[in-house]
Amino acid sequence: MVDAGFWIGGFGLGEGIDERPALLSAIIDVLPDEKPRMISGLGLPEEILEGIDAGIDLFDSTYIYSLTLGGFALTFSLDKSGNQYKYQKSPIESDLTKINLRAKIYRKDMSPILGNCTCYTCKNHTKAYINHLFNVHEMLAQILLEIHNTHHYLTFFHVIREAIKDGRFEKFRQTFIESRRAHYEREAVCA
Ligand SMILES: [Zn+2]
Repeated sequence: MVDAGFWIGGFGLGEGIDERPALLSAIIDVLPDEKPRMISGLGLPEEILEGIDAGIDLFDSTYIYSLTLGGFALTFSLDKSGNQYKYQKSPIESDLTKINLRAKIYRKDMSPILGNCTCYTCKNHTKAYINHLFNVHEMLAQILLEIHNTHHYLTFFHVIREAIKDGRFEKFRQTFIESRRAHYEREAVCA
């Protein structure tokens, strides 16, 4: 279809996070309201929230793929308030937002990646099993991990849509970003 919407490229290539809002609004401001806007290059949860705030509708990102490739599983809080404080203190080999399942610490961990996650991987497999699969270079490790990461990420988008629907998005965005930053800093002090 001609003129179905707009694709925005060139982000996530080195511009500072502080420069981004001005750059994004310079583009978004001249686009018609009724056409969807899609962006590539933004993938971190904070970047998604900033993008939505600027008026982006769709995201094209390799975030989940690269995360999975590195052996990471997303574990950040999906609380509907956006608050990251409620979440547990970071376990070892974790930066609070994700854990590295290649780490030795998970060798005998018989719990799922996230106890309350409803994805196929968390319902059927343990961290120890995925860690084992990584150790023996079995491709199932990445498949199981990608199932969890995709599920977690899509649930994040669901939580965002609910916040928009209820008129709470601005509060959600601020709480999420501020509590996540504060948590990072607290972790850094404790480390
Ligand atoms: Zn899961």
